[in-house]
Amino acid sequence: MFFSMLGRICATYILLLLTACSSPKELHDSRFIMGTLVEFTVSDTDRTIAEQAIAEAANEMQRIEDSFTIYGDHPNSVKLFNISAVDHPVSLPDEVSKLLETALAVQQQSGNRFNPALARLNLLWGFSLDPPPNAPPSDLAIRTAIPPSECIKHIAKQWARSDRRCQLDFGGIAKGYAIDRGIDILKKHGIANAIINAGGDMRLIGQHHQQPWKIGIRHPRKAGSVLSSLSLQGDVSIVTSGDYERFFIYQGKQYHHILDPKNGYPARKNQSITVIAPSAMLADAWSTALFVGSPATVPSAIRFLSVSSSGHIVDNLRIKK
Ligand code: AMP
Ligand code: MG
Repeated sequence: MFFSMLGRICATYILLLLTACSSPKELHDSRFIMGTLVEFTVSDTDRTIAEQAIAEAANEMQRIEDSFTIYGDHPNSVKLFNISAVDHPVSLPDEVSKLLETALAVQQQSGNRFNPALARLNLLWGFSLDPPPNAPPSDLAIRTAIPPSECIKHIAKQWARSDRRCQLDFGGIAKGYAIDRGIDILKKHGIANAIINAGGDMRLIGQHHQQPWKIGIRHPRKAGSVLSSLSLQGDVSIVTSGDYERFFIYQGKQYHHILDPKNGYPARKNQSITVIAPSAMLADAWSTALFVGSPATVPSAIRFLSVSSSGHIVDNLRIKK
């Protein structure tokens, strides 16, 4: 569960299939960050360097969680923005401002399927509560919490919200951004072969013992079963959004945590979407966007595997030759 301080471990959607035996030159470490188990694997690197790099990457990812989370008592600029007076511009740190610009670009390109201003609606549904809720909110409460589609304004390097329902939630994009920053730090330490896997959202670089990394994508309805396996190398980000990560059942119907910004209810078109993109940030945002639905055009850098609610699979993950 991303950004909730409550600490339930996410189901892993994408598996790292480490087929070769661990060599002395391979280091595994895991930390609990961003509400999920973040696994670091570093290959073919001196152990001391790898340990230092992983510790620094983990600290950076924790810093990003603290800067972007809407949960807990720790103050940050996102929480302050969310209670700022309507139409009153405030400054956001450069990092928050840049991620917000990216999020708004995906919102626009996806036809408002991705919307970074759904905090009020997300908090109303309460998927981050522990234990999770056992019934949906009322129709009226849901309708009242939906923000207008364009309610965040960029005014002379400052930001304002034009409606009090408009509250930022980076839960659909910031985990990917944190993975990117973690990889940047591993690279800065000279590491060329590594994976950061945050509850199934991952970015890999290089190779695994001179071979491509083997990645398995889990079947959204058959726990433990691999839907597709991929051999990936170089610099690849792969992220899944699924309806089985955080949900409750009410009167026989499943309610999960990815909301359709148009009606305020859990999106019903898909069971899971796995995206490969140039960065984990974009893979994260687009997996959430495409889970809600596919716009007429998707940027050419975004490749995805979808499992529709009826179980129909479309797989264009493999690089076209
Ligand atoms: P993900 O697991 O990456 O698909 O992101 C789901 C998280 O993103 C949720 O827990 C919410 O915090 C947030 N979210 C839910 N629906 C949306 C949406 N339509 N657009 C953007 N963020 C969303
Ligand atoms: Mg996402």
